[in-house]
Amino acid sequence: MTILSFFTRASSRAFNGYPLSPKLLLLSSLSLSGGGVVAYSESQAGVSKTSVQTNEKDRKKKRVVVLGTGWAGISFLKDLDISAYDVQVVSPRNYFAFTPLLPSVTCGTVEARSIVEPVRNMMKKRNGEVRFWEAECMKIDAANKKLLCRYSVENNSVGNDEFSLEYDYLVIAVGAQVNTFNTPGVLENSHFLKEVEDAQKIRRSVINCFEKAVLPGLSEEERRINLHFVIVGGGPTGVEFAAELHDFVKEDLVNLYPMVKDLVKITVIQSGDHILNMFDERISCFAEQKFCRDGINVQTGCRVISLSDKEITMKLKSTGEICSLPRGLVVWSTGVETRPVVKDFMDQIGQCNRRVLATDEWLKVKGCEDVYALGDCATINQRKIMEDIAAIFKAADKDNSGFLTIKEFEDVIDDILVMYPQVKHYLRTKQLRAVTDLLKDSRGNHRDEVDIEGFKLALSHVDTQVKNLPATAQVAAQQGEYLSQCFNRMNQCEYNPEGPRHFKGSGRHQFRPFQYKHFGQFAPLGGEQAAAELPGDWVSMGRSTQWLWYSVYASKQVSWRTRVLVVSDWTRRFIFGRDSSRI
Ligand code: FAD
Ligand code: MG
Repeated sequence: MTILSFFTRASSRAFNGYPLSPKLLLLSSLSLSGGGVVAYSESQAGVSKTSVQTNEKDRKKKRVVVLGTGWAGISFLKDLDISAYDVQVVSPRNYFAFTPLLPSVTCGTVEARSIVEPVRNMMKKRNGEVRFWEAECMKIDAANKKLLCRYSVENNSVGNDEFSLEYDYLVIAVGAQVNTFNTPGVLENSHFLKEVEDAQKIRRSVINCFEKAVLPGLSEEERRINLHFVIVGGGPTGVEFAAELHDFVKEDLVNLYPMVKDLVKITVIQSGDHILNMFDERISCFAEQKFCRDGINVQTGCRVISLSDKEITMKLKSTGEICSLPRGLVVWSTGVETRPVVKDFMDQIGQCNRRVLATDEWLKVKGCEDVYALGDCATINQRKIMEDIAAIFKAADKDNSGFLTIKEFEDVIDDILVMYPQVKHYLRTKQLRAVTDLLKDSRGNHRDEVDIEGFKLALSHVDTQVKNLPATAQVAAQQGEYLSQCFNRMNQCEYNPEGPRHFKGSGRHQFRPFQYKHFGQFAPLGGEQAAAELPGDWVSMGRSTQWLWYSVYASKQVSWRTRVLVVSDWTRRFIFGRDSSRI
């Protein structure tokens, strides 16, 4: 799947701000910190741990620690006024990966290094005022505002791997991990498509399957099994990978392995009734028809219940029947779940009953001061209008008459629309043009005023439109940009709050809440065809959409270096085809 996240003013301004990259720069931690790093060791309960200290000048600044260098973390860093804070970044990956092109890496359409940008390159361009630590955060100690981090690369390096960091503000942007739904055998026997390494591993395994299938001495059945590629999950990532694989096989591999060309089979297993079911119906229908023409086998309404090294077992949802398929390579792409470090943090702050870390509309973690969470690792707990309805009525009824006139309602409409985005969705679904239309009576006639019961009735269905935001780069990037703007205006807005009015209290909120703008999404379907859902309920499908996809993804690359690399990879593929070496 590819989402037009990159149409966002936010991300484009942010990422396109990097000029043509010079050669890779090797930075030392010292130069990044402006010479301000003093590391000392302290012995705690027999464990020697290092704590990162800051010099006096930086100490006066508030310490912001950012966990993660994905879409949310990088988008936050790129717009943050780093002169106002002492900024430190912790991530086990010292690069940013352009995830929408990961499926293209699995088949060599683009190379892995073309879609990543080293974090230190990005920071260097910000005059080295951000410190980066390649480590994983193992524990968040919210009570003491401390983090325990560990250098988690296995090599023969000497010295302590663990260190602790203190923060004034913490920005959690660690993303999510693959969800196996505890299905037996999945961890051991399948591939995932989440990280760059996963895509590289799949690329090698696809070639392995072909090389194995053409070895002498195999029966036809054995060759067939080796060449049965199974994708579990008919969401955007699974579908895009199936399409990429189909193109790779048809355009390149059948010419190189002609003796097995008729034995290749691609199966997509989807538990829902349709693939791409989060898209417009027309798109999922178009995708199913295209896959049918291409000979990609789509099995809907099936839930995988186990996976062994030889076969995949599933249950048909309609009949309850259990069946098994012999399989070659399996790619598991069924969604994401919370990382253990975030789960542990949720237990500490009283969110243990939740599945995902909850924040308020300002991305502040509920139940915890000075901690923010954004991107795939968190979800906004949008407040319901019915929970605040009495307070809204009271605040709006200025003359305390017990009735709300249209004029009184109009005075609070802007604040309501900002605080409760579900109102806008509701108006759209009900095709109401003005918010005041909500106050019409059951026969559609305007009313001059309503009492509290009438007001409750008018808004009683609005909360059905509360929607959780999807786990996409588009959301993560917009949240990162939003939060950096809040940090940049932290002092200014403390005295001049710019948010909507506090219906339950007095005054205004410090900031406007985060508001997501959906710019549409793409689904590349292979054979130079794609489908796209564009703003305003527009749907576009076919070859022209694929060209739109190319232009959007080229323009939204994070640097000129990656843009040039990606476009030259596409050109190389057009001219020479994909490389089938197993490196
Ligand atoms: P991530 O981008 O996953 O970043 C998380 C960061 O946290 C990483 O740097 C990671 O190394 C770091 N981290 C992890 N654990 C720790 C720890 N313990 N301590 C410190 N750091 C840690 N979205 C779209 O909008 N359009 C698309 O086309 C699209 N295609 C996709 C294709 C694929 C194959 C995949 C996997 C995803 C795709 N997505 C797409 C979804 C999108 O990539 C995610 O929604 C987005 O990456 C979320 O951003 P994030 O910053 O929350 O997490
Ligand atoms: Mg009144």
